[in-house]
Amino acid sequence: MRMLLLGLALAVLPAQGESPAQSGASITLYSDFQQPPPPAVMGALQDEVHAIMAPIGLQFEWRPLHAPRGNEVIAELAVITFRGRCDVADLVPVSRRPGALGWTHVSDGVILPFAEVDCDGIRGFLRTELVRMKTGERDAVYGRAMGRVLAHELYHIFANTPEHGTSGVAKAAYSVRELLSRVFTFEGPASSAIR
Ligand SMILES: [Zn+2]
Repeated sequence: MRMLLLGLALAVLPAQGESPAQSGASITLYSDFQQPPPPAVMGALQDEVHAIMAPIGLQFEWRPLHAPRGNEVIAELAVITFRGRCDVADLVPVSRRPGALGWTHVSDGVILPFAEVDCDGIRGFLRTELVRMKTGERDAVYGRAMGRVLAHELYHIFANTPEHGTSGVAKAAYSVRELLSRVFTFEGPASSAIR
């Protein structure tokens, strides 16, 4: 079975304070796309993050990282960088390098609110299955899979843990089947850790 890794990378970044999740309050997610996704992919990505995280009390408000900002005070935030090409056009075979498809930055053992998602890696990982689907389905399925990878990284950030669980979004690796399945949720211990 092909599995993808969801890793924690060590990175040199300024340490930030902890970001405990406050129930009810929404968390600002600043997104930075190297290549903007089509609206259908973006919609499926946001819907999936909402579907996974809302039941455990985490609501997100998405904003582009580089949009002009007012003077509002943001209490909680995470910055997400989406690397590579975040669409499903031109799905030619590529030799995929092994490695994580999503990661969260850690400095001196502290989880930082900075995560990255490898759009090219997810494309390559799911390519065989995506090309078999109707063109109209691919955006939604791909965006949903991106949402699952991102939800895993948000789990690290807002549960403030490098640990992995044995099921659901906290698993250290997802199979192709888990990324493509219709429903995917937190189960068991991970959902209490993030509360
Ligand atoms: Zn992980």
